[in-house]
Amino acid sequence: MYGIKDMTLVLPERISGLKELAYNLWWSWHPEGRGLFKLLNRKGWYLSNHNPVKMLNSMDPAAIEAASRDPHFLRHYDAVMARFESYTDISSGWFCSNVADPKKYSIAYFSAEYGLHHALPFYAGGLGFLAGDFLKEASDLGVPAVGIGFMYPQGYLRQMISPEGWQVGACEILDRKNAPIRKVVDDKGEPLSVKVPVIDPPIHLEVWMVQVGNTALYLIDTSSEANDPWNRCISDRLYTGDLEQRLRQEIVLGIGGVRVLDALGISYSVLHLNEGHPAFAVLERVRDMVEGGAVFSDAFEDVRSTTVFTTHTPVPAGHDVFSYQLMDKYFASYLPTLDLSRDEFFRLGMNPGSSTGFNMTAFALRCSAYRNAVSKKHQSVTRKMWNPIWPDLPEEKVPIDHVTNGVHVPSWIDRRLGDVILNRYLGRNWLEEHDQSRIWELIDEIPDDVLWRHHNVMKNLLITRIRDRARTKWLEQSADSRLVMALGVLLDPNALTLGFARRFASYKRPTLLLQDLSRLKKILNDTWRPVQIIYAGKAHQDDQQSKQLLQQVFSAAKDPSFGGRIAFVEDYDELLAQYLVHGVDVWVNNPLPPMEASGTSGMKATLNGVPQLSILDGWWIEGYNGKNGWAFPGAEGQDRDAMDAAEMYDLLEKEIIPLFYDVDVEGIPHRWVQVMKEAIKNTGPNFCARRMVKEYTDKFYRKAIESAMKSKTRKTKEDFKAELFKRI
Ligand SMILES: *Cc1c(COP(=O)(O)O)cnc(C)c1O
Repeated sequence: MYGIKDMTLVLPERISGLKELAYNLWWSWHPEGRGLFKLLNRKGWYLSNHNPVKMLNSMDPAAIEAASRDPHFLRHYDAVMARFESYTDISSGWFCSNVADPKKYSIAYFSAEYGLHHALPFYAGGLGFLAGDFLKEASDLGVPAVGIGFMYPQGYLRQMISPEGWQVGACEILDRKNAPIRKVVDDKGEPLSVKVPVIDPPIHLEVWMVQVGNTALYLIDTSSEANDPWNRCISDRLYTGDLEQRLRQEIVLGIGGVRVLDALGISYSVLHLNEGHPAFAVLERVRDMVEGGAVFSDAFEDVRSTTVFTTHTPVPAGHDVFSYQLMDKYFASYLPTLDLSRDEFFRLGMNPGSSTGFNMTAFALRCSAYRNAVSKKHQSVTRKMWNPIWPDLPEEKVPIDHVTNGVHVPSWIDRRLGDVILNRYLGRNWLEEHDQSRIWELIDEIPDDVLWRHHNVMKNLLITRIRDRARTKWLEQSADSRLVMALGVLLDPNALTLGFARRFASYKRPTLLLQDLSRLKKILNDTWRPVQIIYAGKAHQDDQQSKQLLQQVFSAAKDPSFGGRIAFVEDYDELLAQYLVHGVDVWVNNPLPPMEASGTSGMKATLNGVPQLSILDGWWIEGYNGKNGWAFPGAEGQDRDAMDAAEMYDLLEKEIIPLFYDVDVEGIPHRWVQVMKEAIKNTGPNFCARRMVKEYTDKFYRKAIESAMKSKTRKTKEDFKAELFKRI
């Protein structure tokens, strides 16, 4: 048996449920949950940066005591707790009524990162948010999922920009006591410790739990005192550049993850690998069965037929390749326990397209029966990329499906838009039925001025927030004045505002709009129809090239000849993303096709009525319908950057700017608001995580569960191996 250790704080009996509520991220997508904490301690909520565990821990016990006797607070408390409790009943969920008994069949979801809330910085970017949104939606639909990931105590880079425009990062150590995470303990109350054998000496893993609605996420922590220092730091940082450390991370995540679930007594029928990083999980599942007496062939087939693998990027750096030498160092003594030879193992990880090393994606593709890309376009790119694994098949028959990404609607829609406007015009049930297109047609019933006023409230909030940050920097650090100006001091709430916020990676082309500075200056500095751009995003710590791109953007922001109409906002995170996707006028996306497998930030923006100006790549090929934003195909050849930039300037000058400034006597741009409505209408039902999770279930989980139910007839081990390795 295992238990959970939480804060030592003792709450008055009458409101003791606050503790469970604080540790369940349910509050992060239920405004009434957040509202309760705000009601309890508004200032504390703000000072804790919206983290109820930290807030409760630092509250004056007398104030908590007083709240437990305050009838006004208690009325709210009882109402919220009633909703919270009814939410946690999954026996009435979609999965239960449509798929299978959630108590019998569940899905173990493995991912190297999770983006859930800014209080839990276990993410780098899109992959993490996809995983976080997946867990939240699984919870909403009653899909019985359990997550496995990493606790990165130093994984989080707080970004600051030097006056020279250079990104200087400081790692922020996670304050575990004050985070909405709880340590898993054994029956003696000691931290549960799970050993991973592959690494010598074996690593001791400790485990933390994050409650995401009805879904539990277990985070692996290697910092136990029982480990030697070199092992202790395995989980320190997300995506280290050191390949050996990276391999050790992936061993811990995959093999350790399966061991952790085992130690917790959690059984599951389906294994879902989110990207190749956790793929070693397959091996450990097989090993477990072989240890239990199964022959390798049976075990491998059982595991393969219940494994789902999602690949997320065509960018080469996104696919880990480890040298055989390194693989030997770690796997030499492990393989015999699976009854798998070195040669066979290496062939499972061979990329026929490039001969050296063990490729995690190739390995995951061969070890899963269900494989998918994350948009239609990405599917065809991925099929081409991995066709050599199925050399007998034509490209269009390569067995890789697609499930286009989606975003968790309750997490990303602004609560005022949802609770006030959509409740009124779409009907109170809109959120329960938000993957049905019919209800979104009612968007047209919203009067233009209502939506436009709402949008301007959001835009003002964004700009106020940005200026506040700049003010703090000015006040507390008496920072260089040019630097402070570049952070957005001169932003104008009336100007057409473009937003470009994403990881700084060269394929995303963050400097594309800066291709022709004089043309851009003319566009931005127009007296009657000004335009401004807000940039945000972090470069990876080891990526000097991306830091230089960031520096270029920053020097434009500092350049007085742009009149303060370019801003760079520091420290892009989930909270800043919320403000940006709610508050800019146009979301800009200009990656180098076909590198953006899907992209999800544009979905967050369009869901909130912020139309996208985007190159046709990733999800936008499916998302763009001619009415809900702007698209351009992207050029080919040497000059593609200059040509793509020219295309964007053209669209701005000829379509976007005139449309935005075409207002009636009351200042309402009706035709623009129509584009906003089309954006919401199309994204709500089609690019929501609900559609995505249902699709994963219908396409893969259902079948994988059926395989898990069936007992198979086995061939002999030799036949099986001969067949398996014939084509590899
Ligand atoms: C949604 C999100 C991302 C992913 O954005 P892309 O469109 O894939 O670039 C990255 N970071 C944060 C903070 C996000 O909220």
